[in-house]
This record gives sequence, structure tokens and C-alpha cells, in this order.
Amino acid sequence: MDLPGLPELHASLVEAASAAGFERLDPGGEPGRCCLGFTRAGQAEAGVLYVSAGIHGDEPAGPLALLELLREDEWPEKLTLVMFPLLNPEGYAVGSRTNRFGIDLNRDYRARAAVETQRHLACLDKLGRFATAVCLHEDWESAGVYLYEVLADGLESWAGEVLAITDGYLPRERATEIDGHPARDGVISYAAEEVSRQDRVDWPEAFWLTAKHTGRCYTVETPSGAPLTQRVAAHQAAVRAICEVVLRKGGSPQ
Ligand SMILES: [Zn+2]
Repeated sequence: MDLPGLPELHASLVEAASAAGFERLDPGGEPGRCCLGFTRAGQAEAGVLYVSAGIHGDEPAGPLALLELLREDEWPEKLTLVMFPLLNPEGYAVGSRTNRFGIDLNRDYRARAAVETQRHLACLDKLGRFATAVCLHEDWESAGVYLYEVLADGLESWAGEVLAITDGYLPRERATEIDGHPARDGVISYAAEEVSRQDRVDWPEAFWLTAKHTGRCYTVETPSGAPLTQRVAAHQAAVRAICEVVLRKGGSPQ
């Protein structure tokens, strides 16, 4: 699988989203200066699924997975979808984790120093609660797939069900410590209340989503050392699995 250039990927995402009946959430702009956002309305009672990717420009599997999912257009019609498939376009263009000023956008959701974060939050601030949020990432140091799961008090974990599906595409990371966090069977678990109380200033996107928009947030990590095709397939499978669980278990705002 070849990596498309930024203009090609941007155009492909816009075309595929339009063909699948999504509307733009963002005000547009040049591919490098545009926070692409798409939404498609479903049935209110089925809930809203939020999916984002590409906040780290050297992790292309997430944006490509969302492009493939838009092209195949097998999203459940009942779900309302909100998607930001390419949060760091200039980073993607040059294959860097940060934006072009060296800011890690996934540490910028409290400081809002980067224009990319400001553009994303301008769109997010117009949106309400999500049943579930999903952020697609890759990890250069891991040997397998794992999840960060942030849950509001009392909510049941879906992580095992999601990883059971991705197991069919890539092995699971089984280390008992991942990225400095205690982990079990590929899951790093945090309580939403714990996350939103943290006084650290370098908030990742998932902290903002948990504090403002949802009680259930998954960060899906695939191993960058695996072939791109498999990472993309694993991300697609994870998103499909989460859609299926949201529909089955109920999508009321949480
Ligand atoms: Zn990442």
C-alpha cells in the first residue's frame, strides 16, 4: 500500500465523504491548513459516534483506514457519525509526529497553542455529547494492538470485545506495562473522572473529549512496525467493532 500525498489524500477524503452522504463541519481551506470534519445524521436515539485520526503525522494508518471506511460506506445508518480524519495535515505531508512548528497536537488541548488545535476545537465546540469517541493512533514501540479505554463511572468495558475483533488482523500487545502505563490483555484503563481532574497542562485530545463530550473514549493503537495494509485493516476492524457495540448496547449520550 502506497501513501498518498497530502493533496491526494485530502481530495480523496472529501470525495469519499461526500459520496457517502456526509456534510462538512469545517469551513474549508487549503489541504495543509484545513481541519477536515465530516458528519452524517442517523437516528437520534442510536447516539453519536466520534472518530478521529492523523493527529500524529507519522501515523498514517488511521487516516487511511477512515478513507477506506468512507469508501466502503457500510456505516450503520442509525448512528450519527462525526469524523475528523486528518488532524495534522502538515505533519502527514512530511511524516512528522508534530505540526510544522514542532508542537505535538495531542498535548495541546488545554493550551490550544497550535492553529490546528484551535480549528479542531472551533468545530468541536459546536457539537454536543457523543455516545463514544474513538481516536486512531500508531505506536512505534509496541509489538501489537492495544487500547486506552477511558470510562465514566459505572460504564461497562467494551475493550475486550473490540480487541477480540482486531486479534483477527494483528497480534495484541500483551505487555503488563505499555507506554509507562499498567496494562492488562492489551487494555490501559482510566476512569473519566480521574482524567478530567488531572491538572497537567498538556492535555491529549482524549482528555478534552472525555472532559467535554463523552464518558467513553477509546484510543486505538496499532504497531508501526507491522505492514501498513495490516495496520489499516486493524483500524478499520476496530472502528467497525465499536460501531457494532454502540448499536447493540445503546448509544445514549454518556
Ligand atoms: Zn499517536
